[in-house]
Amino acid sequence: MKGLMMNTPLTVRMILERARLYYGSNEIVTRVDGGYHRYRYSDFYDRVVKLAAALRKMGVGKGDRVATFAWNTFRHLELYFAVPCLGAVIHTLNIRLSPEQLAYIANHAEDKVLFYDAMFSPAIERLRPYLNTVKQYVVLDDAAATDKDLAYEQLLAAQQDDFEWPDLDENDAAGLCYTSGTTGHPKGVLYSHRSIYLHTLTCAMADCMGITEEDVCMPIVPMFHANAWGLPYTCAMIGAKQVMPGQFMQPGEILKAIVEEGVTITAGVPTIWLGVMQVLEQSQVDLSRLKKIIIGGSAVPEAMMRYFDSKYGIPVIQAWGMTETSPLGSIAKLKQHMRSWDYERQLAIRLKQGIPAPGIEVRAVDESGRQVPWDGKTLGELQVRGPWVASAYYNTTERAEAFQDGWFSTGDVVTIDSEGYITICDRTKDLIKSGGEWISSVDMENALMGHPKIKEAAVIAVAHEKWVERPLACVVLKAGETLTDEEVIEYLRGRFASWWLPDAVEFIQEIPKTSVGKFDKKVLRERFKNYRLPERKK
Ligand code: ADP
Repeated sequence: MKGLMMNTPLTVRMILERARLYYGSNEIVTRVDGGYHRYRYSDFYDRVVKLAAALRKMGVGKGDRVATFAWNTFRHLELYFAVPCLGAVIHTLNIRLSPEQLAYIANHAEDKVLFYDAMFSPAIERLRPYLNTVKQYVVLDDAAATDKDLAYEQLLAAQQDDFEWPDLDENDAAGLCYTSGTTGHPKGVLYSHRSIYLHTLTCAMADCMGITEEDVCMPIVPMFHANAWGLPYTCAMIGAKQVMPGQFMQPGEILKAIVEEGVTITAGVPTIWLGVMQVLEQSQVDLSRLKKIIIGGSAVPEAMMRYFDSKYGIPVIQAWGMTETSPLGSIAKLKQHMRSWDYERQLAIRLKQGIPAPGIEVRAVDESGRQVPWDGKTLGELQVRGPWVASAYYNTTERAEAFQDGWFSTGDVVTIDSEGYITICDRTKDLIKSGGEWISSVDMENALMGHPKIKEAAVIAVAHEKWVERPLACVVLKAGETLTDEEVIEYLRGRFASWWLPDAVEFIQEIPKTSVGKFDKKVLRERFKNYRLPERKK
């Protein structure tokens, strides 16, 4: 027997209309040159309508891909809503990718229109000859139209307010984002209205990101990286004030906006916060309005969580996710019975990647595909499924094996404990395979970054005749500090089994970063691929 409830399509437009109807007077603020641009959700709505009308006149229809090449700004936010509500697909291009990657991605997606921030004009000029499907370019900002490109503000000014939104199926495509593609080509993840809607609801939940109408939320994670972790949609659904950093992503500028706009919740990858911590160490900043910092994308270093706890009493909340999971997969919160635990024991839980968000199911499997026990010790590859997890990559058969039996294989190696908390130990491709055993680099990196003289650290595998692979620690010291290899290894001794300890330490200037600010171990492995390890001391 079927239930007798309405089959209301879950669409991005429901989020948009809610923002207009109930939160019209709440603000959306964008950092711009010399200050802030600010307007209200009601103004935002009016402009989204005009943008949708303009897109339709340009010939953009259902299913067409509309690319963006832009920072987090109110105009980008307008595109986040107008494009899917029109039935088209917003495709966020990562501004930090190489021209070759960008051309591949835009051609593969068959983008029809491309909106770009004026400051990226030189990059767009370089790309233009290689983009085979883009028919129309639109420059954002207050720039004027050129003989080649339309200007966003002029485009909007020319539209009327009457626009009829199309009816959409909740399973229609709404967004497209390519993963960085550490192996093979970048691969497209195609979100639906339904997946975005359900992800949005879940992100807002008190035990997930816990964002409410009273919050002032500043996503530092770019809108071109995994939907800015769903924050633009989540804030709009519940009417939270949004603060967009624009191009002002330097640590000092981020802090300035947090203070000046009274930000209560912010979110970004650890690299951003490492920079912020350095600024905080040299200056007095009033962070009293900030209630929590959501960090994900890479493991949160222990020292970072301790720092914000002890200096500011601001909890860092760790989340795990992937472009393929919209991205929220799991989030680390203490359970009620853990509230009475001492700080160290609580910290150990908060440093895990958490329990799955409602709607997400997880399991960990060994190399033969058998589920490993939830004992907090046995390693396995994490598999996930749920309504906002990709069921396939867009228009390719590459990595089709990642989607089997209704599960998505994440490529993350984890343990799951008896309470359901996941710990990411490594990515399958970063694991160090020493003498048939696995050494996971993440814990060691975290331990190293807790050393008072170490700024950043990455542990990578280098080839070894006898053991196949052995760990090499690549360490960046804080300015003016010195350390020897022995001191570094000694610091790790006692914390890890002796056979896990790195065989050598390389002091380098900087850990290379990926386009989304994560440690790029592929580059390090390449750099040290012929590394000769010294004889191992016992
Ligand atoms: P990319 O492949 O470019 O890093 P994603 O942003 O989709 O693209 O990255 C997803 C991956 O990031 C996950 O598979 C996982 O390895 C890593 N990750 C995300 N959040 C965390 C976290 N909290 N701790 C450790 N690793 C994380």
